[in-house]
Amino acid sequence: MTRQFFVGGNFKLNPITLDAKSSLIDGLNNAQLDPSTEAVIAPPAIYLIPVKQTLRKDIKVAAQNAYFKESGAFTGEVSPKQLVDAGIPYVILGHSERRTLFHEDSALVATKTRAAIDAGLSVIFCIGETLSQREANETDKVCQEQLQAAVDILKEADWSKVVIAYEPVWAIGTGKVATSAQAQEAHADIRTFLGKAVSPAVAESTRIIYGGSVTASNCKELATQKDVDGFLVGGASLKPEFVDIINARK
Ligand code: PEP
Repeated sequence: MTRQFFVGGNFKLNPITLDAKSSLIDGLNNAQLDPSTEAVIAPPAIYLIPVKQTLRKDIKVAAQNAYFKESGAFTGEVSPKQLVDAGIPYVILGHSERRTLFHEDSALVATKTRAAIDAGLSVIFCIGETLSQREANETDKVCQEQLQAAVDILKEADWSKVVIAYEPVWAIGTGKVATSAQAQEAHADIRTFLGKAVSPAVAESTRIIYGGSVTASNCKELATQKDVDGFLVGGASLKPEFVDIINARK
């Protein structure tokens, strides 16, 4: 089966003004994009609706986070139902910055994932090991533990709503990209795990994308790997080269 190539742009807490947002969006609106790639951008929550209104319709919009409750006394949170109501189809969950800086553990990430999918969102589900875990040969163990929490809670959920982002923490925002061999090996191991933990069909059809210092100059080589189904891009998604990354398989 062919899995549709997927490229997501995670703007993180950038840009800080609407003006900068417009030039970013204008660049994407005027670019020639490979129509066979599913392209998604994740601006900060305050910009989700204006970005959706001005962005070309063949690029989707993602939230960078969501809570698991629908409504209530949860100051500062946004619910999956509110995102669906605003016409936002995707949410990033389990990003390493949320796991580390905001102390989100695998159980919470899994609970949020279940709530997001139940509300009708698709989830970009992030996993990945730190440098010390890689050096201790724990890459598989860490990725599997992070995934297992989701597998346990998703049960018979619709896995077509899940895109797994393998993002080694040592590669995020560091300029140290995984080699294509390292990415392929980790992705193949994740797919094998999915085959055993969920089903061979889910393993075959689920997109596993790579994130960590992807740029226009390294994306083409990474995109040749058979289990690399796209990218989650941070820093380079704020630059014109993001278009080249969307077009990595063109
Ligand atoms: C990310 O934040 O998901 C990411 C991959 O960042 P960068 O591309 O900057 O490493």
